Amino acid sequence: MTVHPDLQKLKDRLGEVSDINGALALLGWDQRTIMPHRGAEVRANRMATLGKLSHELFTAEETGSLLENLAEYERGLLFDSDDASLIRVTRRDYEKEKIVPTELGVELSLAASAGYQAWVEARETSDYSKLQPSLERIVELKHREIALFREALPEVEDDYDILLDDFEPGLKSTEVTRVFDLLKEASVPLVQRIRDNPEGVDDSLVHGDFPIETQRALVTRIAERLGFTDESWRLDPTHHPFASSMGTQDIRITTRYYQNFLNPALFGTMHEFGHGLYEHGVSQDLERTPLRSGASMAFHESQSRMWENLIGRGRPFWNYGLPQLKQAFPEHFGNADEDAIYRAVNKFGPSLIRVEADELTYNLHIIIRYELERDIFSGAVPLADLPDAWNARMDEYLGIDVPDDAQGVLQDVHWGSGLFGYFPTYALGNVVSLQLWERITRALPDLDRDVANGEFAPLRDWLGENIHKHGRKFTPNELLERVVGVEHFDPQPLISYLTDKVERLYGV
Ligand code: ZN
Repeated sequence: MTVHPDLQKLKDRLGEVSDINGALALLGWDQRTIMPHRGAEVRANRMATLGKLSHELFTAEETGSLLENLAEYERGLLFDSDDASLIRVTRRDYEKEKIVPTELGVELSLAASAGYQAWVEARETSDYSKLQPSLERIVELKHREIALFREALPEVEDDYDILLDDFEPGLKSTEVTRVFDLLKEASVPLVQRIRDNPEGVDDSLVHGDFPIETQRALVTRIAERLGFTDESWRLDPTHHPFASSMGTQDIRITTRYYQNFLNPALFGTMHEFGHGLYEHGVSQDLERTPLRSGASMAFHESQSRMWENLIGRGRPFWNYGLPQLKQAFPEHFGNADEDAIYRAVNKFGPSLIRVEADELTYNLHIIIRYELERDIFSGAVPLADLPDAWNARMDEYLGIDVPDDAQGVLQDVHWGSGLFGYFPTYALGNVVSLQLWERITRALPDLDRDVANGEFAPLRDWLGENIHKHGRKFTPNELLERVVGVEHFDPQPLISYLTDKVERLYGV
């Protein structure tokens, strides 16, 4: 079959855009893993320029004409075919990207790089005033971006929806608020019940002296069992773990090691493995297209949280996992049994730091950030008051006193890096992971037994076939509808799972 000549032209153009974006991803990976600190300034320019080239190539009139010429051809294609999806998603991206002038994109990119550096310093010295000017600048630029979208899309109901759409296509803040209110209503009393239970769970097993080289070998061995291969993956240390990819066969995941605490490297690796597996599983037919990624950030996070929590913090995994720990640290784990390690990795309770939070309080950390972002953009919380507003909500939802801003409002990189509208996708990822899990456990009745035996291929294959291979072809709602049968986020499976787990572990 011959390809429609305009489709071929479009694919060639998108291939080049994808090449630039892949190079950008590599620069970003390098910046966050091995780049010498003082390379930051020039790197910011390199990345802004490549971003500009990619934006200009993508938003050129030629892309628009090709899309227009292909409209009739598209109507003759099946909705879920690769070609129809490519044209549809490209059109959506194109119409959005056209709204943001190149200069504003460059300003945002530079402000984000400067903000990142300011954040590093502010956090090191626990001094919010070092970050505040950068935040003022970013929020001002974001308001300019929002105003342009408002003008182009009069149907938008809420400024915040424009921020959300970059990470979760089509999602509205009314929907987020509905889901988060239900989650909050169910979670706050559970947190209170854990606080009232003085016995708690003993997690001393995962604390001790764990030489980093041995940890590295351990988490690599586990990642390899999950599906990591040297041919297509890398695992490197970093301060703030992330996953990225330069192609479906070039997956970079990162983790961090604490000599006295096993969880960050272990669960961080499983988490980032979930992200990496998603990108690795995208159909190779979608390579060098804008479809070579996940459906949305929430879908991406549903995959990482599934491997981290539903597998890694599940009871069956420890049948396979405990012997791995015993082999790596025979003295420390010599007498441990599976129940003890299962309990130790499932310690619940309010804490200061989001990335170290348990499965229950994690969502409250996110809800706090979501509510603050809404208040920042509505003007209800001036940026000068952000630390106080943060501390007040930590007290209200988690009953926690924040001792300093480094452990409070400065703990996360996102805002300094210009990422607003991103945080909600983390908790929505937890919501989606449980919606999917209900479906998966029905489709794979032997899953627990397989996981207990360290057999992860059935789950990997199911995810690949039902979710990963589609890449970005479908919106999150379309993908949910295809996989789960309902097109909206439903927090109920997550609430039931958390309630059940807390009751089982804490007997409350
Ligand atoms: Zn993640």
